[in-house]
Amino acid sequence: MIDVTGNILVIDDEKVISKVLEVILEEDYTITKTTSAVDGLALARAELPDLILLDIHMPEIDGYELCRLLKTDTQTKNIPIIFVTALSTQEDETKGLEAGAADYIVKPINPSIVQARVKNQMEVKKQRDYLEKLSTIDSMTGVYNRRYLDECLSREWRRCQRAKTDLSIVLIDIDTFKAYNDKYGHVAGDDCLRLVAEKLKEVPQRGGDILARYGGEEFMAILPETPYEFLSFMAEKFRSAIEEAAIHHFDSEVSDILTVSVGAATVKPDKHIDMMYLVKMADKMLYKAKGDGRNRACIMDLGDVYEDSIAETAEADERA
Ligand SMILES: [Mg+2]
Repeated sequence: MIDVTGNILVIDDEKVISKVLEVILEEDYTITKTTSAVDGLALARAELPDLILLDIHMPEIDGYELCRLLKTDTQTKNIPIIFVTALSTQEDETKGLEAGAADYIVKPINPSIVQARVKNQMEVKKQRDYLEKLSTIDSMTGVYNRRYLDECLSREWRRCQRAKTDLSIVLIDIDTFKAYNDKYGHVAGDDCLRLVAEKLKEVPQRGGDILARYGGEEFMAILPETPYEFLSFMAEKFRSAIEEAAIHHFDSEVSDILTVSVGAATVKPDKHIDMMYLVKMADKMLYKAKGDGRNRACIMDLGDVYEDSIAETAEADERA
């Protein structure tokens, strides 16, 4: 079942209009409202509502322009927008739809029309979210998504355990990406993420290898049957691929180009070890790479750690 409740952002410079809309919709949805277009843009980016009700006549940025800004930002482009306006000529309507609006509500506001139009758009949005969740591809970068990554990791864990071979993972995190977004803006930030994904994909990988977006500006590669020696080679390949792309990042603390830090770990999966321990250790190595000055790869061979811990346990057992 698809849940059709959701969050709605109302942006209208007339307080009374947003209040009326709130009263009409608050029983079925969670409403956030603002009278400022600038705040509206920030709220849309921060809260990613399911739907936006947008006024056209506003002093700072008009509704058409705000709509265009929201539609060019990868984060907000899939949020449906319904214009709420006193304008009602065919020309106005066309202009709104061309700016990317999903629908129109004409003032004076009629409660049943508002409810029906909002419900329609909310259903479309929820359906699309659901399909996206089922898909295996990260829509922004085109590499595998987190959901597929999780599935793949547990599958490879079991397979490498049966085959008694090494399983390696690599975490790749863009250095000072917040500073990049702050300097170049979110649209450039999204382009940068896509470019990084593309460059990482170009690193020669073998048949069973998987590259996915782990979250935010972090990627993960799963490399089955990859021993420690080859893992260090691969980790360095991923790091240098981004350095060689020479993407300007003048506000980076590391360099004047964009860099990544890499944390990697390898293990022979065993029923005595939790799969998440491998992820945790790769994350620890990533943290170390960041701490050591970024733009570097740190790698851990858990095979050794595990053998040490078996030896310790055996000793402890002997003493006991
Ligand atoms: Mg207005």
